[in-house]
Order: sequence, then structure tokens, then C-alpha cells
Amino acid sequence: MTDRAQQFASDNYAGACPEALAAMIAANEGSASAYGDDDWTARAADAFRDLFEKDCEVFFVFNGTAANSLALAALCQSYHSVICAGTAHVETDECGAPEFFSNGSKLLAVPSDSGKLTPDQIRQMATSRSDIHFPKPRVVTITQPTETGQVYAIDEIRAIAAVCRELGLKLHMDGARFAHACAHLGCDPADITWRAGVDVLCFGGTKNGMAVGEAVIFFDRALAEDFDYRCKQAGQLASKMRFLSAPWVGLLESGAWLRNAAHGNACARRLASAVADLPGVTPIFPVEANALFLSAPGAVLEALRARGWKFYTFIGGGARFMFAWDARAERVDALARDLREICAGAVAEAA
Ligand SMILES: *Cc1c(COP(=O)(O)O)cnc(C)c1O
Repeated sequence: MTDRAQQFASDNYAGACPEALAAMIAANEGSASAYGDDDWTARAADAFRDLFEKDCEVFFVFNGTAANSLALAALCQSYHSVICAGTAHVETDECGAPEFFSNGSKLLAVPSDSGKLTPDQIRQMATSRSDIHFPKPRVVTITQPTETGQVYAIDEIRAIAAVCRELGLKLHMDGARFAHACAHLGCDPADITWRAGVDVLCFGGTKNGMAVGEAVIFFDRALAEDFDYRCKQAGQLASKMRFLSAPWVGLLESGAWLRNAAHGNACARRLASAVADLPGVTPIFPVEANALFLSAPGAVLEALRARGWKFYTFIGGGARFMFAWDARAERVDALARDLREICAGAVAEAA
């Protein structure tokens, strides 16, 4: 596919960024011990410990569904339950993997438009039943940023963590786009994780510029007991682990993890402001990360598709545009121009 055809349907349409790829190629030199017992993997785990200023336990898996599911399974017994937003990836896009890997821990989905959970919603769900017939609430999972690009502020996470502590719940964060939240808030990664009360983070690499791979980070090391066995049993232990871990060295040591995310966020804002004055075209959610969701008349979206643009409409309603590390400004502007022309045509037709 040529450069000109760049699409914004998903941030995983992008290839791997140069920093991640260079580290992978460097890791290809010679032989290394298998199954994570190699220097690249140790270095990547240390890079996370530096980034978070915390002696955390770090595991590398292939994808986000596995990261989330195995992390939740590690926190739950089969009779436990997990409180999540109704829009959460674990609920809507993981094919039941969290329930599968936990041997049946039930997800308790709370309706939410923004994708955020509030302390009140958590309290209500967690205390709605206390009898033996209901699966015992054990974990809260929040997505940072949410599936529709909303970023939890530091105080919002602290408030959620406080309720969790009070009610004896663990706090898990699906950070498939964690870097984008850090770029938006301009905070230390620790400020929205362990310092705010998060127990386990799934840190997304794929949507941050890697070819493949996510990291599962246990800030409370005790919770990571036997997690290596869990990964192996689930088919998530890479034998040539260096190829999953080295790209993290490339991303973290160079600062590309944050630059990539900031670029994606900036492109979403660029498109949002370029189409802000178009009649009938409105952002559905505030643009805080690398996503723009637009509501527009069906005919406008159809015309956009006819001009070759790809986008999803099954998440969040409207048309979703996602911007990765490689999003080109000219291509963002071309999309805005097409939208503008289509809207102008629609107005002329109506007159
Ligand atoms: C992309 C994504 C994931 C991971 O998805 P995989 O396809 O399993 O890698 C997890 N959570 C959220 C919110 C995502 O957007």
C-alpha cells in the first residue's frame, strides 16, 4: 500500500516506528537465551522500572486481550467479579477472554457514555448485593484513555482507588493507549498508576509504535505470583522473548513512546479543528487522546467512503478516526478537505 493511501480507521493500521524496529534489528544479532532469560528482556523491564520509579514486576505478552485477561485472571478467583464500564474493551471486544482465562469471573458492566467509571457507580455496583448468590466483586478495571478517547485526570483515578481500597477491590488499568494519556496530562506515568492507587497496568505497545506486544506491569509484586505460569499456559510466553522486549527498549530509552503518543494526539486535534465549522459534522466526544469521533449525516459518511476513506462506525457511534505515530499532516488535511467538499456539495444540493 502506498503512503498516499494512509488511512485512519485504526491506530493499528500503522507499521512499527523506527525506534522499535531498530531495537528489534539490533536484538537479531547473534543468539540469546530463550523464554525471557536474556539481556534485552532484563533491560526492557528495567526501563519500565525507571519510567515508573518503582520496582515493579514486568511481563511481555503478544496482545492486549491476553494482557487484560491474564491480569484480571491473576486478581480473581472464578467466583469473583470485575466491575467495568459497559464500553470497556474487556466487555465488548475480547470475545469473553477475561471470563475464559479466569475460569468464569463475571464482568459487571456499568452503563457509561464517556467510557469512564465514577466512584459512585463503582460503590453502587460493588455494594448492590452482598449475598452468596452474586459473584463477589473483586476488581475494578478502567481504560486510560477510554475507548472513546477520554482521559481520566489524576484526581479521578485517586478517587476511584480510594473507593476500591475502602471496599477491598483491586484496581486494574487497561492502558492500550496509556502513552496517549501521559502525553495529554503531561504527568509522570507514576502519577496515574501506582501513586494514584493502580495495582496492575496493561501498557500497550502495539498502538504506541511497536509491531506487536504489550507489557503487564504489577506495581504490587505479590500480585504477580505465578503470572509467568499463567502466561505460558495461555500461549503467551514467547520463546524468542527478546523480539517482544527489545522494541520496548527502543521506545522507552529514546523517549519515542511519549513522542509517538503526543503526535497522535496532535493529529486528532488537527482534524477536529479543521472540521469544527462544518455544518452537521460534530465531535461526539472531547478530543483528549488520539481519536476523533464525528457524528455526521449518513449521506456525508457514505460520500466519504466513496472517496476511499476507511473508518469504523461500530464504536462510540459516528465515524471514528484514530491517529498513530506515523499519521501524516497532509493526509489529515486531505481528509478534512474531502469532508469540507462533501458538506459544501450537500449544502448546495439542498439550496
Ligand atoms: C486495542 C485495545 C486493546 C488490545 O487489543 P488487542 O487487539 O487484543 O491487542 C485493549 N484495550 C483497548 C482499550 C484497546 O483499544
